[in-house]
Amino acid sequence: MTPVTSFAGRTVAVFGMGLSGLATCRALVAGGATVVAADDGEKGRAAAEKAGFAVEDLRSADWSRFAALVLAPGVPLTHPEPHWTVKAAHAANVEIIGDVELFCRERALIAPSAPFVAITGTNGKSTTTALIAHILRSAGREVAMGGNIGTAILALPPPAPERVHVIEMSSFQIELTPSLAPSVGVLLNITPDHLDRHGTMENYAGIKARLVASAARPIVGDDDDWCRDIAERLRLANRSWVDVVSARSREPHGWYAVGTELVARAPWTGPLGAFADLSEAKALRGRHNIQNALAASAAAMIVGVQPAQVAAGLRTFPGLAHRLEMIGTQGRTLFVNDSKATNADSTENALAAFDGGIYWILGGKPKEGGITSLEQYFPRVAKAYLIGQAAPEFAETLRDKVPFEMSGTLDAAVASASRDAAGSSHPQPVVLLSPACASYDQFPNFEVRGEAFRKLIAGLEGVSPLSPGQTST
Ligand code: ADP
Repeated sequence: MTPVTSFAGRTVAVFGMGLSGLATCRALVAGGATVVAADDGEKGRAAAEKAGFAVEDLRSADWSRFAALVLAPGVPLTHPEPHWTVKAAHAANVEIIGDVELFCRERALIAPSAPFVAITGTNGKSTTTALIAHILRSAGREVAMGGNIGTAILALPPPAPERVHVIEMSSFQIELTPSLAPSVGVLLNITPDHLDRHGTMENYAGIKARLVASAARPIVGDDDDWCRDIAERLRLANRSWVDVVSARSREPHGWYAVGTELVARAPWTGPLGAFADLSEAKALRGRHNIQNALAASAAAMIVGVQPAQVAAGLRTFPGLAHRLEMIGTQGRTLFVNDSKATNADSTENALAAFDGGIYWILGGKPKEGGITSLEQYFPRVAKAYLIGQAAPEFAETLRDKVPFEMSGTLDAAVASASRDAAGSSHPQPVVLLSPACASYDQFPNFEVRGEAFRKLIAGLEGVSPLSPGQTST
C-alpha cells in the first residue's frame, strides 16, 4: 500500500466503493487522514462498512469539513451530466480528485525521481501496460503495475527510486489527476470512444493529450490524426524529445516496423536498426500489436533496459487473457479467445491477424453499425457461427458472402466450429471467438464469456491447452 500523507489530519470524502475506492480509504487512513466513505449502491456502502470505514450519506453531509472529494473513475464528472456529488463539491468549493492524483502528490513528497510510466490511448492500454511491466521484470527490475488494469494504484507499494510504477490510465482517471507528471507518458492512439462521457472528440483528445504533455519523456502514436496533431504540438512546445511510434509508416527519427522487425531511429537510441522480431513473439500477433510493442520498447529503453533485453521480453510475453489469446490446439486447428473484442474495430484486428481458414464465432448484444465494416475480411472466413441477440442482424450482413450457421449459444457454436475446422483442408484452421458484440445478453461480462469458451475448448477431445495469458483484473 502507498500511505497518502498529504491529507494527514484532515477529512476526505471518498465516493464510489469499488476496489479502488476501498484502497483509497485505506491509504488515506494509513497516512493520517479521516475518511468518510459513500456510495449510491447498498453493496458499496456495505463493503466500506465491513472494511471499517465510516459511511455517510453525502447528500446531508456538512461539506465544509471536507478537504477533498476523491471520486471513483466510473462516476460522471461532466457528461452526460455531473454526478450529484460533483455538484455538491463545486458548491462547497471542495476540490475533486482521483486516486492517481493522491499517488502523484505522494510521489512528489517522498520520491519525486521515482520512475513512473503512465499509459493511455483508446485501444491497447492494457496490453501495452502489461507488456512494459513484463519487459522490465524480465530484465530484473522491480515493477509495480496497476491503475486501470488489475490492482488499484494506492494498493501498490509506494514510489521509490528503484521501483518502476507502470500505470494504465483511462481518460476518466486523467481528468481527475491535475498534477499528473509521469517520467514517461505513452499515448497510443485516439479514436472515437466514450463520447457519451466526454462530450466532443476535442474534449476527449484534450484529456488524453494531458498525459503526454505533462510527461518528462512523451511517447506518442503516429497512426491517427489526433495523436499526430498532439505530437506536433509537443514538438513545437520544444520541451523534450518526443518519441513517435508508427505501425504503418517508416519514421525517419522514431520507432517503426519493417515487416515484423522493430526498428528504432531516435537520436538518443542512435541508429539502432532492427532490435527485435515480432514473428517470435507468439502473444503479439497482428498489426495493432506492432504499435503496442514499439511503444512498450521505447518506454522500457527510456527507463534503462537494454535493446537485447527488450527483445527477450517481447518474445516471452504471455499476452493478456481474452485478447487474441491462443488457448489450445487440436490437430492442425488453433483455438483463439478474443472475447474482449466487443466491437467491430477490435474484431477487425483479429480477422486481420489470420490469412484464412477462420471459423468465426460471433454475436452477443449488438453494437451500432454491426459488422458491415468488416466486409473486406469476409473472404478469410471459412464459416461463421452466430450467437446471441445479434444473430439475425449478422445473418443479413453475411448472407451470400460467407457461409453461416445460427448456433444460438456458445456451446453449440464451439461444437460445430471445431468439427468443421477439423474437416478443413486449410493448413492451420482457426476457431476464433471474436464476437464484435457486448456479452451482456448471455454473460455477465467479456471475461466470463472468454472463460466459458476456454472451458468448452478444454472439454473437446484431443485438445492440447496452451499456457493462459495474464488476467488483467
Ligand atoms: P484497452 O485496455 O485500451 O481496452 P486492450 O489492450 O485490452 O486495450 O486491447 C483491447 C482490444 O483492442 C484488443 O482485443 C484489440 O482488438 C484492440 N487493440 C489492442 N491494441 C490496439 C492498438 N494499438 N490499436 C488498435 N486496436 C488495438
